Amino acid sequence: MTKYAQNYGRLDLLIDGKWRTSNSTSVQKVFDPGTGKPIGEVPFATLEETNLAVETSQAAFEKWSRKPILERIKYLFKMRLVIEDHFDELATINTQNHGKTLEESRGELQRTIENVESAISTAYTLSKGETLDQIASGVDEYSVKEPMGVFAIVCPFNFPLMVPFWFIPYALVLGDAIVVKPSEIDPIPTSHLIKIIQDEVGLPGGVLNLLHGSKDTVEALISNKLVQGVTFVGSTPVAKRVYELAGKYGKRAIANGGAKNSIVVMADAQIDSVVSPIVSSFFGNAGQRCLAGANLISIGDDTHEKLISKFSKAASELKVGYGLDASSEMGPVISSRAKERVLAYVDKGIAEGAMLATDGRGPNIASHPEGFYLAPTIFDLVNEDMSIAKEEIFGPIASVLSFDSLDNAIESINKNTNFGNMACIFTSSGKDASKFRHEVNAGNIGINLGVAQPASPFPFGGRRESFYGVLHAQIDTVDFFTDKKIVISRW
Ligand code: NAD
Repeated sequence: MTKYAQNYGRLDLLIDGKWRTSNSTSVQKVFDPGTGKPIGEVPFATLEETNLAVETSQAAFEKWSRKPILERIKYLFKMRLVIEDHFDELATINTQNHGKTLEESRGELQRTIENVESAISTAYTLSKGETLDQIASGVDEYSVKEPMGVFAIVCPFNFPLMVPFWFIPYALVLGDAIVVKPSEIDPIPTSHLIKIIQDEVGLPGGVLNLLHGSKDTVEALISNKLVQGVTFVGSTPVAKRVYELAGKYGKRAIANGGAKNSIVVMADAQIDSVVSPIVSSFFGNAGQRCLAGANLISIGDDTHEKLISKFSKAASELKVGYGLDASSEMGPVISSRAKERVLAYVDKGIAEGAMLATDGRGPNIASHPEGFYLAPTIFDLVNEDMSIAKEEIFGPIASVLSFDSLDNAIESINKNTNFGNMACIFTSSGKDASKFRHEVNAGNIGINLGVAQPASPFPFGGRRESFYGVLHAQIDTVDFFTDKKIVISRW
């Protein structure tokens, strides 16, 4: 296995191409959730540091945006190569700070690379404008897409490598400059990835900046006059707040929020082939995915009987353990606070009358007794009014509900929660799959799979309170990071 540090010390900021020790007196410990021990410290950038990052980034933008796109693409080719060169090291550090298994970190890093590839392949085609000759006599009209300036990229804890790359390669190749703000809970993988890129790709100083912090840093970025827009991925209350602030300051915003995703299993589904994808949907990344299954809906009593026993058995057989141990199949949750929040939902589920079919409280991980571990937990006999069926828990908990028809299940999915990120159906009926696809009000629909994750050449976003904005992440950012100029010429 790749070597990794036991402690990363106090993290630096990257401003104007130089790594700087923050002057901040506000500093937070960063933990390895698998051991429960601190592995570094994150300073919350001061207002002066935040403004300096934006100002120097604006200066870098002036030159960067004038480079021919051919040259900017070459930086991205190099970026892709250096990420591959450091693949194992990045996956290891990601697991160490986030807790997910090594296999999950490798999958995440693969998605990161795919977004660099997608930005490269998009750069020529989607950044082109359009022409209409002779729109009037002797008059031609055409449009160009121009880069705009500095953008803020604000990220959540759950995919420290991938989520920043829903935006970074697109913004850079299109000629913008960026300030990235990772989660303060697990900032080490993002910092390490940005360090590798800055050291080995040789981007001009100031084009790619890294600030640490939380609310104050994000608000300082959005309110800075030079910042053109913000991309945000995180919980719904903060997404809403960021979107409001962006509106207040007249900025562009993409704001992805939380989720409560349902997976429907029809009576005609092949139950044996459903179990493995649903286990990985509910418990992959310890349930901390915006595309994780949260409510499992069976249609008909027979389906429920067949499904619940196999699902519970497979879930309870998952090996929970330290992410860096090759045999672990599920890692810890991100923090002791997250663990307490999940446990509070287990108490709520019991108090509300659901049946605890698989109890994942207090798994014994002898090698790491201080880690923030929970095992898969399944509540059966859940009804749609319970908080465990409505609210985002963001941990390894499944709520099992039953309906007598697909119509009733769809009605519940559309009305019972305010989220609309993903919904999946397992069925052998094309008609039911089609009905589900048409009638469910969610941004991502899965048919016979448990995680409907759009690949990088597709937009990534949800609906209702899972998303605020118009353009989504990944490929849609081509239009987000550029502004159209229309030229009408008479000769
Ligand atoms: P979070 O909202 O707590 O934090 C996200 C980011 O916002 C962090 O960088 C944080 O420092 C910053 N932040 C926190 N409070 C802020 C405030 N008041 N103002 C401005 N910025 C603030 O989210 P999290 O716990 O890191 O991530 C988990 C959440 O992210 C879950 O709800 C999950 O569903 C969601 N998520 C959504 C998607 C999606 O595509 N819809 C993808 C991944 C994660």
